[in-house]
Amino acid sequence: MELLERFINYVKIDTQSDEESVTTPSTMKQYDLLNLLKKELEELGVKAEIDQYGRLYAKVNGNPKLDTIGFCSHVDTALECSGKNVNPQVIRNYDLKDISLGKSGLYLSIKEFNKLKELKGKTLITTDGTTLLGADDKAGVAIIMTALEKYLTLDENQRHPMAILFTPDEEIGRGPEHFDPVKYGAKYAYTIDGADPKYISIENFNAKSALVEVKGKAIHPGDAKNKMVNAITVLNEFINNLPKDMVPEKTELREGFNHITSISGSVEEAKATYILRNHDMDILNKQVEDFETAKEKTMQKFPQSSITLTFKDQYRNMKEVIDKCPEVTRKAEEAYKKVGINFEYEPTRGGTDGATFSFLGTPCPNLGTGSYNHHGKFEFACLEEMEQMVDLIIAIIRED
Ligand SMILES: [Zn+2]
Repeated sequence: MELLERFINYVKIDTQSDEESVTTPSTMKQYDLLNLLKKELEELGVKAEIDQYGRLYAKVNGNPKLDTIGFCSHVDTALECSGKNVNPQVIRNYDLKDISLGKSGLYLSIKEFNKLKELKGKTLITTDGTTLLGADDKAGVAIIMTALEKYLTLDENQRHPMAILFTPDEEIGRGPEHFDPVKYGAKYAYTIDGADPKYISIENFNAKSALVEVKGKAIHPGDAKNKMVNAITVLNEFINNLPKDMVPEKTELREGFNHITSISGSVEEAKATYILRNHDMDILNKQVEDFETAKEKTMQKFPQSSITLTFKDQYRNMKEVIDKCPEVTRKAEEAYKKVGINFEYEPTRGGTDGATFSFLGTPCPNLGTGSYNHHGKFEFACLEEMEQMVDLIIAIIRED
């Protein structure tokens, strides 16, 4: 099947995950795509298994002397925007003009979305302005399935054994749950879940969360002089004692941040939640110290209050695992050269499922999909870039 046809078929299936759900996978409709993929794999003669947690594993034989290489992507779509009744538009021979998104009145503007300037003459797939597209990550799924079809035409001695994994619930952070590296059987793998094909990501943030709890002392406000300790005022002071510029809206690239995500309180008690992020674990630990320092400073001013800090580890930068498996980057670099893409390493400013797979035993960098503006109505994909990614997978897995 052609890549475009596959991609359109997949995006039309609603597979949105659900944060509130306690089931695994979080929504049963993700099986609509998982079961279709299983059927398509079996039609290609590839044995596939969907386990009790909705993870699809498949394996294809190659030269047994070569390492098994894995590829993975996720079937669910983001929560920010509807993924129901996706009605993709295909624009051929793109002419560098703004693109009207159906009857919605919305436009993909070339001024706003710079990437479009590079795509003259290409085939673009957009939304009709009423839903997301779901290229995140059905572009990845379609790329892997198309690459597999090509892979099967290679001589068995010439190819690495291939392992495929499609997961649900990536968008709600549960993708790597129940991941079984032994069942997967890959020495190393690649998630196909990024944007621009030219970026390889072998780094993601180290991540912690912090809970700040303040206790004050409530007194009738008419009678409060020198007695009341207002927890809200104390928390405000604490917030102001943290570094001012280390916030998401003022950082980029490899700069980390402390991001306040919620605040609530009364005179008696107040609390705030934070996420702390940095590619460098030493600096992340320094950020924790900054919280301790802010606490001390605040307590000096409000000695009658109490502040409790609770930190939790969330995820880690996969680089430390990837560095121990140099083949995974060497293989990717060689493949990029073969296909003729000038690649760059770009650290991910977030977490990836691949980071968790890495720590569970399968080193797993993240590669692009040729799709952009994920999680919203302006999402689009470029067919030629998706095709490049198919070629890249073949270049990785083929041994000449
Ligand atoms: Zn994704």
